[in-house]
Amino acid sequence: MQHLRDFYINGGWHDASDCETQTIINPADEQSLGELALGNAAHVDTAVRAARTAFAGWADMPLAGRLDLLKRVSSIYRRRSDDLAEAVMLEMGAPIAFARDAQVAAGQDHLDAAIAAAAGFAFSYPLGDAHPIDYIRHEPIGVCALITPWNWPMNQIALKVAPALAAGCTVVLKPSEMAPLSALLFAEIMHEAGIPAGVFNLVNGLGHTVGAALTSHTEVDMVSFTGSCRAGAEVSKAAATTFKRVALELGGKSPNIIFANTDVAAAARRGAAALFCNAGQTCDAPSRMLVEQSAYPQVVDVVENYAQSLRLGDPRSAEVDMGPIASERQFVSVRSHIQQGLAEGARLIAGGADRPPELERGYFIKPTAFADVTPDMTIFHQEIFGPVLTITPFQDEKEAVVLANDTVYGLAAYLQTDDPVCARRVASRLRAGMLMLNGAVQSIEAPFGGYKHSGIGREGGKFGLAEFLETKVIAGW
Ligand code: NDP
Repeated sequence: MQHLRDFYINGGWHDASDCETQTIINPADEQSLGELALGNAAHVDTAVRAARTAFAGWADMPLAGRLDLLKRVSSIYRRRSDDLAEAVMLEMGAPIAFARDAQVAAGQDHLDAAIAAAAGFAFSYPLGDAHPIDYIRHEPIGVCALITPWNWPMNQIALKVAPALAAGCTVVLKPSEMAPLSALLFAEIMHEAGIPAGVFNLVNGLGHTVGAALTSHTEVDMVSFTGSCRAGAEVSKAAATTFKRVALELGGKSPNIIFANTDVAAAARRGAAALFCNAGQTCDAPSRMLVEQSAYPQVVDVVENYAQSLRLGDPRSAEVDMGPIASERQFVSVRSHIQQGLAEGARLIAGGADRPPELERGYFIKPTAFADVTPDMTIFHQEIFGPVLTITPFQDEKEAVVLANDTVYGLAAYLQTDDPVCARRVASRLRAGMLMLNGAVQSIEAPFGGYKHSGIGREGGKFGLAEFLETKVIAGW
């Protein structure tokens, strides 16, 4: 792998071989993939200053010019999809087909959606007939720090970089040091596309060094962060003293309400599939299944059978449904949640905390499901971020809504019912940014983000673009 010891700054590769390093571990076999250079505040400063210098020229470039360059990025990304998929598979353990068809494809979709959103966006317009002298302009906010996690690495990077650049901002990206391979390839793609020097920069490093230096830097105007609530709160605090705009996409503990009047088996299977995909490492995964009492035994059966049918193993194999957990840290954390579920009296119906006996190496956790989970249990509330599904019965619609909203999070909610009136009523009462009815999946242009502790702001399409824009009124135009 090239560039593990380099950062991409001001249009070129900046040698960082004198930096301390961190070993990148392949979670499927616990072997080293190489040594990654970890930057420091000085690297951040160099990158931010490059982004600041490039800002005026990039912001002044006609939109069509910026979008032509992003279209080149999109086409090179498409050409390099197999390389990106291989990198995602190696760094975070996604099965190769899923890495290519879901992980990398999501990045492609976000690149194209951001280009389309910017092409159709009203960046300037008169306020209206009643205010003939007021003219509105939406202008790029400036230099943006983009801090991304390891669970959907290309999805998150494209979802931030593409709208930021389309808006006319310049950026410094800090990917997760747990999944840096695909991000380095992404920088190669930006370079090949001819993105002007300083417009896109990448510095690898740890959250408390590079991340903290970015969020407190006086020349950074905005931070867009995806990750844990803990880190999100730290980012907000660090950004507050310099009044940066902060966009946060944080965690979730999304409810999936299944009423008995629907095709219960299909709904249960669909919900379990959505949770176990990507080994449960998805912020909007439907991790809490809430089931109407009369359908409860059937749902428990379906989930048990489904979880046990999933094939766990080497992500290189086309025969595998689920790979390992992305890192040892997550492996330890997910197993301890499973142990806590057992200790608190939840009924284990599939999986468990033991390593699968046939997989001696790698951070593998069996698809795990608990029934009879009650709201006083930790696993009902805490985001596990692994292949662990909880199932809880409810008596009626009122109780379903109370249980669904009984969380500090509010990212997504899922609802399965054949009664459209009930669907609309319940949908309006759920405190979540994204509501998925009867298996529908939101479009790539739809707003992505949550209520409460799930974050601030929205990503995706014109909503994501707007996050990177300031609003100016010019009176007397
Ligand atoms: P973190 O939130 O710690 O990491 C996400 C990113 O933020 C990484 O690039 C990280 O760098 C960086 N970061 C961490 N602390 C700071 C800081 N103070 N200032 C700036 N940047 C910072 O997530 P983890 O990887 O530790 O995962 C822990 C939990 O977070 C998961 O179990 C899951 O619950 C949740 N999570 C949610 C995600 C989502 O999509 N909403 C994505 C990933 C995790 P570094 O790795 O060096 O700390």
